[in-house]
Amino acid sequence: MAHVRKSPEVMQSHIFNETTIINEFTSPMTKDSVLHSCRVPDVLDCQQCQRLAGFLQSVRTQHPSYHARPVSAFGENWPKLLIVGLAPGMHGANRTGRPFTGDYAGILLYQTLHKFGFSTQPESIAADDDLRLIGCRITNAVKCLPPENKPTPQEIKQCNQYLAAELKLFAEHDGAAVLALGTVAHQAVLMGLQLKMKNYPFAHGAVHDLPAGDGLRLYDSYHCSRYNTQTKRLTTAMFEQVFTRIIADIEP
Ligand code: SF4
Repeated sequence: MAHVRKSPEVMQSHIFNETTIINEFTSPMTKDSVLHSCRVPDVLDCQQCQRLAGFLQSVRTQHPSYHARPVSAFGENWPKLLIVGLAPGMHGANRTGRPFTGDYAGILLYQTLHKFGFSTQPESIAADDDLRLIGCRITNAVKCLPPENKPTPQEIKQCNQYLAAELKLFAEHDGAAVLALGTVAHQAVLMGLQLKMKNYPFAHGAVHDLPAGDGLRLYDSYHCSRYNTQTKRLTTAMFEQVFTRIIADIEP
């Protein structure tokens, strides 16, 4: 059942007032980009991973209209729910510049977010489609498109500086639920919080109490990739069960 939340206008005004006090984390940008993308050191010009920077250069040559840069997080600045995916997809976030937007991986995610009241629209097509997240933010463990969707352990570690900063702010501002989509995201969250992997094993549907923030919890789901959904490793019912638990916990 869909949940009733604050009106988008109320949420928007609330966000803008709060973002005015986080300037140390923001670079010069438009009001819109402040609202929707950046509250940690800006990743857009990062080229710390040589292999990924070189790959993006070749993608830009091949697809001049693509975003083909690191992809910033999207959503509210102070959400209750932070969703962590793996990395931008070639023709999705890497093309549109918004996480899980414009390709198959976003279909089930945004449908579910809309059903549970976290999104104003059930489909995420393009960065300018007016979709807004409500009480939610989406980011990735690795901000740059990796060849074959496979970042190396070193790249995951290198990019963890950004996720760690996002998690820190999330925990400090009453964030309640981190949803990790897949094992890599799960491990990146633990790395960002400096927690031991062996104490928090990944399993679809698992819920872990974390010693960070005020009652912060980590929820695990299989990644909503085309492969996982088409092979039924992850069904709509399984994914919705995870969101049902999250909603029950953050809106008791
Ligand atoms: S993956 Fe992360 S650390 Fe590596 S270049 Fe991209 S933004 Fe920078």
